[in-house]
Amino acid sequence: MLTPLSAMTSGPAPHVCVVGAGLAGLACAAAAAGAGARVDVLDERATLTAHPTHVNVVPNLLRDLVTLGIAADCVKVGFPYRGIQVLDGTGRCRFELPTPRLAPSSYPEALGMAHGELAAILVRAAQDRGARVHWQTAVETLGWRKGKAVLGLRDGRQVEPDLTLLATGPQSPLREAALQASPAPACLGPEWTYAHLPRPRGFDHATLVLDSAGQRAFVVPIGPSTVGIALTRGSAGGPMPAVLQPLLARLDPCTPRVERPLLADFLRGPWHRGNLVCVGECAHALPPHFGQSAAQAVEDAVVLQDLLTQGLAPAELPERFNQRRHARARQVFELVCQAARSQEAPDATTDLRELFLRLSRLVAEPA
Ligand SMILES: Cc1cc2nc3c(=O)[nH]c(=O)nc-3n(C[C@H](O)[C@H](O)[C@H](O)COP(=O)(O)OP(=O)(O)OC[C@H]3O[C@@H](n4cnc5c(N)ncnc54)[C@H](O)[C@@H]3O)c2cc1C
Repeated sequence: MLTPLSAMTSGPAPHVCVVGAGLAGLACAAAAAGAGARVDVLDERATLTAHPTHVNVVPNLLRDLVTLGIAADCVKVGFPYRGIQVLDGTGRCRFELPTPRLAPSSYPEALGMAHGELAAILVRAAQDRGARVHWQTAVETLGWRKGKAVLGLRDGRQVEPDLTLLATGPQSPLREAALQASPAPACLGPEWTYAHLPRPRGFDHATLVLDSAGQRAFVVPIGPSTVGIALTRGSAGGPMPAVLQPLLARLDPCTPRVERPLLADFLRGPWHRGNLVCVGECAHALPPHFGQSAAQAVEDAVVLQDLLTQGLAPAELPERFNQRRHARARQVFELVCQAARSQEAPDATTDLRELFLRLSRLVAEPA
């Protein structure tokens, strides 16, 4: 039986429809419901998908999860760490990237956690605050009536929310229908492989391995006995560095894994039209370097929560959201893309540590 949408219940609170239940959509749903809106989340998937991937909860992400009221739940299931070691292929430490504490002192500086755990915590938070999550509910069309978005569902229903948040990722035809912005993701390098593996002794730090032959890996503990690994052989191919062998010995053909192309996409024009605004990867799809993809998605939710809490009318909110998020996310995007390109094709002029420190300074203050 179809669960009725919140639009069908009456009330003074604005009705917010979130299209897409990825991390961005779910975080925005939890934020909007927490700020008093009636929220429906619509996703075409049958339910949450448990990918064998991880989220690197970098300091600014942890701070923003505190603002959303879900950091304690994340700490319970994740694995705290301090600093990111950058090793060469032989295992020699080249330098360490700092993880300054941005959350209150009762929290760690950073942590690793399974992607599915964060998604499940966000679903629970959204539902506990009254949001309804509708799985198997694809939005097929997007039209306009008197400047307001009209969502056409696959089952024939039409919804006219007070505010629509498009959280479908960058490749969605809905984004094109909304903003005439064609998806044009840039491919920055070969695919990355993600998996969860048993944690060998000693792997209790976040570790970035940069091999001179182009092999790259990021390893982060996500639980007492598990690490998340993301690795790429780089354009040149070749054997993986020796330092990763204790881990790679555990990556057998039966280990569940996900391949992800190294894509980057930034919606350069305004992210909004009428009462619709793009959030998450629909607006800014970042490469995974420096752990900012999920962080920027959650930053969108924090700004949304702030604007709704201020009592901003849904008609005014998209433009204000764009003003708060666009330029800042663009700066983060440029730095992260520079890091991604320099790792794919190392050049003597790019100082990775300096890039990381510039990024840390940029995100040290909330959006
Ligand atoms: C393999 C992998 C590994 C990752 N690792 C990291 C990491 O280590 N650190 C990090 O910070 N980030 C990581 N990310 C990125 C992070 O998951 C995303 O940045 C974050 O989820 C925000 O994405 P999103 O919610 O905007 O889009 P998505 O996660 O792509 O979600 C979009 C949702 O929209 C739904 N949808 C699309 N079209 C429609 C429609 N027409 N109707 C209804 N529903 C629709 C889809 O079903 C999907 O659920 C990873 C992502 C992947 C895929």
